[in-house]
Amino acid sequence: MEHTGLAGRVALVTGGGSGIGRASALAFARAGAAVVVSDVSASGGEETVRQISAAGGEACFILADVADGEQIAALVAATVSRYGRLDYAHNNGGIEGPLSTVVDLDEGEWDRVIDINLKGVWWCFKHEIPAMLANGGGAIVNTASVSGLKGFPPLLPAYVASKFGVVGLTAVAARHYARQGIRINAICPGAIDTPMLDRIGEGAQRLGVSLVAENPAGRLGDPAEVAEAVVWLCSDSASFVTGQTLTIDGGFLA
Ligand code: NAD
Repeated sequence: MEHTGLAGRVALVTGGGSGIGRASALAFARAGAAVVVSDVSASGGEETVRQISAAGGEACFILADVADGEQIAALVAATVSRYGRLDYAHNNGGIEGPLSTVVDLDEGEWDRVIDINLKGVWWCFKHEIPAMLANGGGAIVNTASVSGLKGFPPLLPAYVASKFGVVGLTAVAARHYARQGIRINAICPGAIDTPMLDRIGEGAQRLGVSLVAENPAGRLGDPAEVAEAVVWLCSDSASFVTGQTLTIDGGFLA
């Protein structure tokens, strides 16, 4: 495994057991960071750790639900206890929720999507930021979505609302912590080839929408193409970049 700019640093990735989170965990490890892979799926998270270890990197898995503040407090404490510090966080774990109109959406499903996708990022901030401040600074990347900038897909109202929320929370936190050495950005992926996209894509197909045909690039994105941006945003190469939403969408929003 080729080690580069993040050697000696420690990265935490939520939703690291699949898709974009797995790709960013692998990319952090390739760049030399020790990686705490967290997820509600133990099998997925342990598989990510196995792939990092097989490539010669350092990683461990810690089970945590981002919607549970106590579990996130314990996750950050365990990270610092194991590796001595927290430098980077990719707050990425999320769900799409059921396809529904605004009116038909069930209250419990609304709460579940908002609790995981939006409140989950807040819980992560609440525990990651003090750990980073104790360390002199750090960098955080939140996975928002093109759905955080446009009311799309039309039948995922809670998902879209949660991702608009992540963009706003990113901006307000970035402004507040900019002088304290913590940079906070959001990525807004378009259609990326992951298990979540398979589920959303099936729904889109039923509506007669092709996520590939609608994309100027004419293809889906690869999770590794998103992971590159996450690692760059955390790296010192992005030292004056904070409060941004970086769209990685093959031109979808252009
Ligand atoms: P995925 O379903 O492959 O991975 C999501 C991971 O999050 C899974 O491992 C899942 O177990 C985990 N997770 C779910 N609920 C959790 C919780 N409560 N606590 C901790 N982990 C939890 O999907 P993905 O496409 O890799 O999605 C990752 C992120 O990227 C999500 O926030 C998603 O909204 C966002 N996103 C995805 C796309 C896309 O096209 N795939 C586009 C834009 C944004």
